[in-house]
Amino acid sequence: MAAKPQKKISAPSYGKLLGELRHTFQTGKTRSLDWREQQLKQLIRLLEEQEEALERAVIEDLGKPQVEAYTSEVGFVKAEARHALKHFRKWARPVKMSTPLFLKPGSSRVEYEPLGVILNISAWNYPVHLSLGPIVGAIAAGNCCVIKPSELAPAASRTIAELVPRYLDPQAVRVVEGGIPETTALLEESWDHIFYTGNGSVARIIMAAAARHLTPVTLELGGKSPVFVDKSAALGVAARRIAWAKAFNAGQSCVAPDYVLVEHEIKDKFIELLGKTFQSFLGTDASKSEDYGRIINERHFDRILGLVDKQNVVYGGGADRTSLFIEPTIVDEPAVDSPLMTEEIFGPVVPILAVSDIEEAIEFINGRDKPLALYIYSENKRNHERILRRTSSGGVCINGSMYQLSNPSLPFGGVGASGMGNYHGEYGFRCFSHERAVLVRGTRIDPKQAYPPYDDATRRMMKKLM
Ligand code: NAD
Repeated sequence: MAAKPQKKISAPSYGKLLGELRHTFQTGKTRSLDWREQQLKQLIRLLEEQEEALERAVIEDLGKPQVEAYTSEVGFVKAEARHALKHFRKWARPVKMSTPLFLKPGSSRVEYEPLGVILNISAWNYPVHLSLGPIVGAIAAGNCCVIKPSELAPAASRTIAELVPRYLDPQAVRVVEGGIPETTALLEESWDHIFYTGNGSVARIIMAAAARHLTPVTLELGGKSPVFVDKSAALGVAARRIAWAKAFNAGQSCVAPDYVLVEHEIKDKFIELLGKTFQSFLGTDASKSEDYGRIINERHFDRILGLVDKQNVVYGGGADRTSLFIEPTIVDEPAVDSPLMTEEIFGPVVPILAVSDIEEAIEFINGRDKPLALYIYSENKRNHERILRRTSSGGVCINGSMYQLSNPSLPFGGVGASGMGNYHGEYGFRCFSHERAVLVRGTRIDPKQAYPPYDDATRRMMKKLM
């Protein structure tokens, strides 16, 4: 009997989808300020009316406490959309620029034009925030967009794919669900901008694919964000704010404090306080706390426990694979070349290393990739300045951790290995806009010396003007 012909599984193709969105863009529909306003209002409506559904989805994916599901996902994007709604008309205004004498009579301005069709590829750790947050800027700037949520947060991905077409203009905003094959196929197309949130290895794939079409990219990456605590620090506040940031989303935040450098005189006291703080937040058995999330999947669970393996655990260390629970864990003095200190932890583990002084801390930080965030706990303003002037990072928070990203007036993004480009608030609008130079020349004066054949009078005139 002849073998049945195999059904060919073809890779998805998104040329048609891109063509439809490009057509919408070319009609000029999304450039209209009224359309942008209406879409931002619709996004706010989606977040308000579907708050529960979205929260349920992130709770299903990550076991997030309800407060976290609201503040860092639904509430965050809503605040971002409201801020854009209030300001985007001002951001979109052309900016008048000066015109040098040799171009007069004339006038100059910068106009902000939308880029076209944006692809937003997002990560699983804040699945609503990272899928919908970037499109606030994209819509405010007048673009069409495709959202590709992370397949590792399937409930959020499904919910976003179901809700977005019900609220946002389907001619301009679409959702594509899927994993590597779908993203690979999306990357075959020629987008006008790719916005990617995730790890640095995949960022290299994204950038290489974008290079084929000369597509600009924004890369929102992560890495090891250091904390420095000096002996002048308000130690109780430092312990609370570091423990809070490390327990939030079970440490699975791109801006979570990764490790702590602490002046040696206060190390023991700080470790004791940090442990007590975790306990006061989550009780003696954190697995029973309603205020503590879970690890996204078994792969990441095993990876995090692997980092802690054979380390000097001085607090926590408990874990349960079935429920993907890992207790907040403090590691004292890990070897600096162990994976715990060379890889991004992305989990609720705090390695603590003593340093003799601020100079040693600066040297340690500068000996590694430029981090996404840098945290300083100190009451000494000179120390703030020393760290600010002599290190580099995407952002800084002094006497706090993670809060820097919730101010919509500040740019959010990395530098070097922690990312490229930034967004939030007006920076999100600029991220998805082209700054177009417009020069308007008068025709009343048009001296013949400006044109060939040039003579001495031309040279003399040009030397005066330039
Ligand atoms: P992830 O596994 O969800 O991947 C991110 C996206 O890349 C997904 O949409 C996924 O489908 C896609 N992808 C994965 N492999 C791919 C491949 N081979 N080809 C094409 N596409 C592919 O998320 P992740 O990378 O585990 O996210 C965690 C990382 O992201 C951490 O390093 C974290 O610090 C960083 N992060 C950064 C920010 C930020 O705003 N800077 C925010 C969140 C997370």
